[in-house]
Amino acid sequence: MKALVTNGQRDAAVRDWPTPIPLPDEVVVRPLLVGMCGTDVELIDGSVDPAYAHYPLVLGHEWVGQLVSDVNEIGVAGCRVVVEGIVPCGKCAACQRGATNLCSTYDEIGFTRPGAMAELVAAPRSLVHPIDDAVALDDAVLVEPMAVVWRALTRLPLRNGLSVAVIGDGTIALLAAYLVSALSPADVTIVGQREAQRALARRTGAANFTLDTPTARFDLVIEAAGTVASVRTALDRCARGGTVILLGLPPHGSRVEIAPDDLVNNDIIVQASFSYTRDAFADVVHHLNTRQWQPSFLLTHHYPLASADAAVAALRTGDLGSPRGKVVVDLSV
Ligand SMILES: [Zn+2]
Ligand SMILES: [Zn+2]
Repeated sequence: MKALVTNGQRDAAVRDWPTPIPLPDEVVVRPLLVGMCGTDVELIDGSVDPAYAHYPLVLGHEWVGQLVSDVNEIGVAGCRVVVEGIVPCGKCAACQRGATNLCSTYDEIGFTRPGAMAELVAAPRSLVHPIDDAVALDDAVLVEPMAVVWRALTRLPLRNGLSVAVIGDGTIALLAAYLVSALSPADVTIVGQREAQRALARRTGAANFTLDTPTARFDLVIEAAGTVASVRTALDRCARGGTVILLGLPPHGSRVEIAPDDLVNNDIIVQASFSYTRDAFADVVHHLNTRQWQPSFLLTHHYPLASADAAVAALRTGDLGSPRGKVVVDLSV
């Protein structure tokens, strides 16, 4: 079969790859639509921590597909499914308490095992979730980044009616602005980096989009730009009694100065979040299947697998004068 393969040496090419032979507890899924993100670029460039990638690697960790054959308790052949990427061992202490994102054995589809940029993928049956026929593929393909955001938003209880700032205007930031509506916030301000993102930002439901550092302080600040400057802004713009959620990933080794007395005096919670748990993923699937969330407006770039190079190029630099939301590769054509 064909697959998009990288060796982590700034290379990625469609080439022949062995057709998966499922283990007894696995099912075979045919990917239909696969999203790409900055992490895929880092995998191609070999800049991720070696513990988190096995090369050569089939890319693809954000995806929706269909069952190749009937599977009891999941669906019939052709049924649309999404698949959790993190494969938890289920036995370690972290898994036992539900923190499957922290499983002591890191294993993830599209990182340490073959991903979805391929004609077929084998996946553990317990990680496969059916998607309702009425859900658009363009909505379902965003399940993985939504799970990342949703886990961060639900890790600690947050009250309704908060003033919210989201720092950043990439897909994770825009999804955060969209999903935070579940908390019925008083208002949401997106602190963006590019004017071209304004229209996409407004479609998230955020009341405000600004390129300037706000002078106001906010009850909840979500940092999703992943730079040292944006982390500093997030900490600085949090109101007394507020919460800062760190979702962005600044370059490894970055340092940010903090004023601990301000954090103490202002009673501030700083919460970081890694990936997603099984519970968060299932919760997002439920919101999709009940049509509560329809984030497909974030898809701006579509490519066939044969043009995967163009998808990677769009992620690397793109056209800074035009909007960029999620970049997807369509394997159904
Ligand atoms: Zn991703
Ligand atoms: Zn585990």
